[in-house]
Amino acid sequence: MSRLINATHDQSLRSWVESANQENTDFPIQNLPFGVFRPQGSAEPSRIGVAIGDQILDLSLCCEVGLFQELPQQLQVACAAPNLNQLMAMGSRASSALRDRLSNLLRSDKQNPSPEREILTPMSQAELLLPTNIGDYTDFYASIFHATNVGKLFRPDNPLLPNYKYVPIAYHGRASSIVTSGTSIKRPSGQRKDPSASTPSFEPSQSLDYEMEVGLFVGAGNELGQPIAIDKAEEHIFGLCLVNDWSARDLQAWEYQPLGPFLAKSFATTISPWVITLEALAPFRCGAFQRAEGDPLPLPYLSSPLDAQLGAIDITVEVLLRSAQMREQRMEPFRLSLASFKQMYWTLAQMLTHHSSNGCNLRPGDLLASGTVSGAEEGSQGCLLEITQRGSKSVKLPTGELRSFLLDGDEVFLRGYCEKEGYARVGFGECWGMVSYTK
Ligand code: CA
Repeated sequence: MSRLINATHDQSLRSWVESANQENTDFPIQNLPFGVFRPQGSAEPSRIGVAIGDQILDLSLCCEVGLFQELPQQLQVACAAPNLNQLMAMGSRASSALRDRLSNLLRSDKQNPSPEREILTPMSQAELLLPTNIGDYTDFYASIFHATNVGKLFRPDNPLLPNYKYVPIAYHGRASSIVTSGTSIKRPSGQRKDPSASTPSFEPSQSLDYEMEVGLFVGAGNELGQPIAIDKAEEHIFGLCLVNDWSARDLQAWEYQPLGPFLAKSFATTISPWVITLEALAPFRCGAFQRAEGDPLPLPYLSSPLDAQLGAIDITVEVLLRSAQMREQRMEPFRLSLASFKQMYWTLAQMLTHHSSNGCNLRPGDLLASGTVSGAEEGSQGCLLEITQRGSKSVKLPTGELRSFLLDGDEVFLRGYCEKEGYARVGFGECWGMVSYTK
């Protein structure tokens, strides 16, 4: 169902919110992503909003003034909640009914249906919060290009481990340190050991990096002991966001064997505040990654003709950097990479199915991230570790400054968007963070 095109995707739709009709907006009426906000500088309880142009439609107020009366009572209650967990728990059919109502409400052939109450808040006057109470966070490793590039740096003669083409590899991340876009990132201290040193030291990381990823929020969950079948997997995905998995490479290199990443990752993960529903992304679906000849087929529990045909999504993702010096000189952020999410070796459905295949229960609002999105071409590598070959090369910024890894005061911007002839552009907004100055 989430892959089907319907009236809400019609390119000719216009909104009475004028800024939503501008050509390059991330949030036209065809997008309608969900987030959680409160008026800036207030201590008011958080509420659910929908991004439309440069405005936020306040769903609590829509409920109050009776604009959702035709929706089921349970759905109205979920719209008035302080976060998206309840709405996500109701599954894709409920969120689809809500999307249909929102699309109708915001169309330009209507007028603002509630002139007596201001149901819009300008985005510039809102504080955007985490969209859900994230119970669990898992980070995959689904780009074979990223896995191969990183593998080469750490194990030159054995870059891709033999399980990679069978198992969607992941580790359990830390939910408590997930922050929303705009939160400054404190450089972590930890154990690191230079190859020439005989013992490790404890000090601030000297190899701070970002990872450009796409995350999915779990919608309806599954019961403990009840795996999700591959062809049902997308019914359990509410929507997507951008994820920056900040990584301290020196801490990672010393700690990662034998159990994988731990403190090198758990100090902070930034996500973009708007959740783009899978339904909004329907026009941009495409065939799953073509495996190279000789690669094994996925095992039966991860195989599905429908997933092979339409399991991927063509989302263009970009990473940009702005140094303190660039900021002082009022320069635009500089693009470090551009890639497409359709290049991932594993689909979202395969990741979610694999995660639940042992009976592990996923819960509404859980976050599953894809792993670094990297492509095969030059300029499509989603982290500095790959771009600078573990710091042995450097990137030259427009100011002439060189970067192997992030310095204090550097800002990292992730952007994502979908474009296709015949459809409105759908954007993800921004996932932004600055490395704060180490005291
Ligand atoms: Ca990662």
